[in-house]
Amino acid sequence: MTDSEKVREELLTHIATSDAPHEFLRAYQLRALADDIKNIPPEKRAEAGRALNELKKEVAAAVEKRQAELLDRDVEQIDVTAPMDINSDSPSLLPAENGSIHPISREIQTMSDILGRMGFTVFESRELDDQYHMFESLNFPAGHPARDDFDTFMTVQKDKDGEPLIAPAHTSTMQNRILRQLKPQLESGQPIAAASIDRVFRNEDLDPRHEHTFYQCEGIYVDKGIHAGMLVATLKTFLESYYKKSLDVRVNPFYFPFTEPSFEFSMSCPFCDGEGCGVCSHSGWIEILGCGMIHPNVLKMADIDPTVYTGFAWGVGIERLIMMKHGIEDVRYFQSAKLDFLRQF
Ligand SMILES: [Zn+2]
Repeated sequence: MTDSEKVREELLTHIATSDAPHEFLRAYQLRALADDIKNIPPEKRAEAGRALNELKKEVAAAVEKRQAELLDRDVEQIDVTAPMDINSDSPSLLPAENGSIHPISREIQTMSDILGRMGFTVFESRELDDQYHMFESLNFPAGHPARDDFDTFMTVQKDKDGEPLIAPAHTSTMQNRILRQLKPQLESGQPIAAASIDRVFRNEDLDPRHEHTFYQCEGIYVDKGIHAGMLVATLKTFLESYYKKSLDVRVNPFYFPFTEPSFEFSMSCPFCDGEGCGVCSHSGWIEILGCGMIHPNVLKMADIDPTVYTGFAWGVGIERLIMMKHGIEDVRYFQSAKLDFLRQF
């Protein structure tokens, strides 16, 4: 075996198990071989130089391969989810605490499951929208006084008509899109049954019953021959499934621009079963949501013929449903990051 072959075997063996392989790029054995070149006969020097260069390339490739192996090994050893004590001189692992799903997320999942079993397709809403979808398509023409009732947050961004984009104040902002998207289904003989659940925003004064950011669930159902009795039965079924008990329900006339007729929907108090308690102000009833038959103009805006099809719609605040279920007194707890509150769920 020549000196060069011996060096080659030795270096490659060491590199394959080294934790600092790059140090072998300048190994003294390689320098010694280079120094030796001047001692060999001139006619053989060129060949020895080429052999040395080949050996250096081989060493470099082996170093690169070993470095890649080390990188893989180290990445596997780092648990990026492990909590660290960053104030300590030698950071060490802290005992992990169990997190929990936020009560709103958990209840939205429950509501979506119930709606899904009832045949509703659940859509997400959006967190920025134009005035057409927020108002016009829902029968609030420009200048309509009910636009002011929403205390809407405007942004500095403009839509294609030069109007400010809005942080939606209700999930009905999705209604026109959903009606248009599902219209082919309606024409093929299937009803439109859809819900949209998401965050909405209103410039409210905050108190135990009002938040500026909250969640809403809106539902729509459109087909031939749909009437208000079906609306009441659908909402009763949904609320009884959610509260897991029988409820009495009633509707009172109300006004919304996007439904005609419109109703305020009340259920018997799930706490006292209608006997009267502090939660229902001793009336036995709780006004829980707004609903009605979809206004013909709203169907027309989605190119659906209101002389052929009718439908109903409702909108309900999700926090309010959850507060009624768990006896929560203050809506602001949900976004307070109070761990004592969140850990109860
Ligand atoms: Zn009660």
